[in-house]
Amino acid sequence: MTIVKFHGGCHQIGMSCVEINTKNSKILLDCGMNPSDNTVPQINTNNLDGVVISHAHLDHCGAVPYFNFKAPIYATTPSIDLMYILWRDIAKLSKTYPEENIQKAMENIKPVNYNENIKITKDITMKPYDAGHILGSASIYLDINGKKLLYTGDINEIETRTLKPADTNIDEIDTLIIEATYGAPTDIKPSRKSLERQLIDEISATINKGGKVIIPVFSVGRSQEIIAILHNYMKSNSLKKVPIYVEGSLIHTTGVYLSHSSWLNPKLRNSLENGVNPFGDITIVNKENNREMYGREPCIIISTSGMVQGGPVLQYLKLLKSPKNKIILTGFQAEGTLGRELEEGAEEITPFRNKIPIKGEIVKIEFTAHSDYNSLIRYMKKIPKPKKIFVMHGERYQCLSLAMTIWKNFKIPAIAPTSSSILPLF
Ligand SMILES: [Zn+2]
Ligand SMILES: [Zn+2]
Repeated sequence: MTIVKFHGGCHQIGMSCVEINTKNSKILLDCGMNPSDNTVPQINTNNLDGVVISHAHLDHCGAVPYFNFKAPIYATTPSIDLMYILWRDIAKLSKTYPEENIQKAMENIKPVNYNENIKITKDITMKPYDAGHILGSASIYLDINGKKLLYTGDINEIETRTLKPADTNIDEIDTLIIEATYGAPTDIKPSRKSLERQLIDEISATINKGGKVIIPVFSVGRSQEIIAILHNYMKSNSLKKVPIYVEGSLIHTTGVYLSHSSWLNPKLRNSLENGVNPFGDITIVNKENNREMYGREPCIIISTSGMVQGGPVLQYLKLLKSPKNKIILTGFQAEGTLGRELEEGAEEITPFRNKIPIKGEIVKIEFTAHSDYNSLIRYMKKIPKPKKIFVMHGERYQCLSLAMTIWKNFKIPAIAPTSSSILPLF
């Protein structure tokens, strides 16, 4: 019998880590870290045959260097490049592991491609499918002694400016492990078009008044999408051309996006082939132009971190002393972060030693890289019908709610396991 052990990412978003045990082999699907407190999953690495990483987000790969795995690590080529940047950030900020561990992990990674079959143990063959979530993100399909598992990882079922939608042209499935970030029927998000429109309207309103716009972003994924949107609207003159300053590790991650263009939305690739950089003219912040950013002219500042918790964005918060300026939050803001304080209308914040009175505007436009509720249901209708489903990677309410919806709509038994539970996989 094949069993599955859930080490994390159950009834929570963070620290995804799923162990598969067959008679002959033992592998891990993802090895994430908790973004809020940097905790790592509790696993036994003895007799481990392989670690498969779905994508380069902290909650899926952050803990890899911590364990110094002897077993091979499998990830798509772009994921490897993005993970390197991410791990360096973690090592610098949290000191969870030293640089040597990162080097060892890098030496131990085997690059994989979408739709390629790779035999990883005596009885397990894997095949990654495009998950549409961030550059290089994969849903992992495993053939285990003839039985089939699909682990979705994080999925986005709709096309975005930078990526193709999640691939649903998948072979037969016995068991599905699906994410549930937006698993409840109330989790319905506006279309990409209307989000883009809202973003451009908000930016234009501030720029036209001569103000500055600060956009805190996550380094991987959302930042590239936002830059591509701004560039596109500026090109068609629907957004006034003002300088776009970028700072933080997104400078490196955008470079990785450009250097793996064949993994991106073909429209982006076409634009590159025609000599047009889809990320347009961005100015990288340095000592000289740093002063201009505080000058009189309107501009857009894009910087990490997305939840305004650390990262260079902190030093720009003083711009919010002026009612002319605006900050646009583009994603979920966790409890206890400065982003959440701003979202909840704080009158002053203290990013460093001194208090900053908040007079500028605070706006939130959520550009999620996850399927919303309707899109998760569509995804399940498109893929072959599994016999059993496990629901994870969502808050408790979302996981339980999606499990119930699945039973009601598809008549497939669905479980939302808790962390450290052990269950039969097939
Ligand atoms: Zn993710
Ligand atoms: Zn995730």
